Amino acid sequence: MENAIGNNIESLRAFFIENVSKFCDKCGTAYKSDNIDIVSESNASVIIQAQCDNCKGIYMAHVIKPLQMTKKIPIKLDIPPALLHPYYVLGPISSDELLALRKKLSKVKTLDDFLEIAGEKKPRKVKISR
Ligand SMILES: [Zn+2]
Repeated sequence: MENAIGNNIESLRAFFIENVSKFCDKCGTAYKSDNIDIVSESNASVIIQAQCDNCKGIYMAHVIKPLQMTKKIPIKLDIPPALLHPYYVLGPISSDELLALRKKLSKVKTLDDFLEIAGEKKPRKVKISR
């Protein structure tokens, strides 16, 4: 039977509960719709994350479109999907990027040096008056 499912979040949540997993693998608590979020979606696949209300266990499922589950995997995470999403968008890190960062980090001597590499503004010095 074919699933006539669009790509909106509610239908993906319903798909997860009906076809991937109804219950938490760790404690057996039933998933509710708002336990399920979309981490990343492309034309070819969707990554869905589910967090158990009871034990806070997190699972991810990679679903190939048209919606067919590949595998649900347990994953230890304390990052909500909204914070995880930007890293998926950035794509894989290259070895050149890592080596360039390592070179920069080896030169760090102060917090200001580090903040400059991180692209953050230097902390403002707070003047204390009496
Ligand atoms: Zn659980």
